[in-house]
Amino acid sequence: MSKKQEFKSALNVMDGIEQPDQINADAVIKLKAKRPHPLSAGEFVAGIRSGNRTILSKAITLIESSLHAHQQKAQEIINTCLPFSGKSIRIGITGVPGVGKSTFIEALGMYLIPKGHQVAVLAIDPSSTRSKGSILGDKTRMEELAVEPKAYIRPSPSAGSLGGVARKTRETIILCEAAGFDVILVETVGVGQSETTVRSMVDFFLLLMLAGAGDELQGMKRGIMEMADAIIINKADGDNINKAKAARVEYKNALHLYPPAECGWNPVVDICSARSRTGIEAVWDLIGDFTETTKTNGFFDHQRKQQFRQVLTETIDQALKQNFYGRKDIMQAMANFEKEVLSGNLSPYTAAAMLLKINNETAK
Ligand code: GDP
Repeated sequence: MSKKQEFKSALNVMDGIEQPDQINADAVIKLKAKRPHPLSAGEFVAGIRSGNRTILSKAITLIESSLHAHQQKAQEIINTCLPFSGKSIRIGITGVPGVGKSTFIEALGMYLIPKGHQVAVLAIDPSSTRSKGSILGDKTRMEELAVEPKAYIRPSPSAGSLGGVARKTRETIILCEAAGFDVILVETVGVGQSETTVRSMVDFFLLLMLAGAGDELQGMKRGIMEMADAIIINKADGDNINKAKAARVEYKNALHLYPPAECGWNPVVDICSARSRTGIEAVWDLIGDFTETTKTNGFFDHQRKQQFRQVLTETIDQALKQNFYGRKDIMQAMANFEKEVLSGNLSPYTAAAMLLKINNETAK
């Protein structure tokens, strides 16, 4: 460009200094390399089997996710882990808030770990959310166990239906077992049906009680005592020891009134102090006795098979219901039929039969 041409226009732009790139390419490459690629189901299983708890936690998060893709991957992981599961003792622990469940679990866990056990602690609390759970949500609980490399504590899945929480916990048990945990403790408080739910996923069900507080006060319905394989009266320490011993006699007598259990195991009543860690060994020994007795007489295996059967039928029940009640056309027809039923023109049985017929004939 000649000098003459150069100043011909007032809009002439001077050449600037070459600017460095706004984005640091090196950093981008490093960042990309650092960002973990999503693990395949096979990588998840390998990680779980090697006892990698970060991967175990991530897999449990997939189980808890409601995203379809996550669910699919979770199912693949669970199915692959299934043959490696089942080799633990699954223990349910219940009792009213304040009875000492977490203190007891910590005491039991800290007793078992030096003996070479690996302990997973899970919880069922449909009322909880991650931020404000009544079980295992409080970080100060189980402080010692929480830092043990041979222990794994997982809070209750965030709020959802009891059925949903139960399913996630069952699946989590499978992964924990595949990861090598041989003692699975499932904690619950007596909220609604949660005890029955925990009972249906464990081998041994332990009820923690307090001496001196009436059964009413402890929210204990007769049914819960009937489900228990052991009733352990906690806080048997200090001035409370004699009261605890008296309560032991009382509960033993109460249990005598129940018909003998089909499993060949008569529920045991005992006392312990989770805080001073006395009586914990005796509880573990009685769980050992239970396992030996029920494995010998076949009940242990029978119960697990029953539980599998129950999960199978419950899952089908749920899917059928979801399929039916989730259909807009059926729900519209139902609203119309309902009017007819309520005005006395149609029997509810006929209406139900007609709706089911529509459902069957137009099944997708
Ligand atoms: P949870 O709500 O059932 O899990 O009960 P916690 O384990 O949180 O215990 C409730 C309270 O009872 C805490 O203050 C514990 O320190 C106390 N506690 C638990 N176990 C014992 C025990 O064996 N003896 C005594 N004296 N106190 C206990």
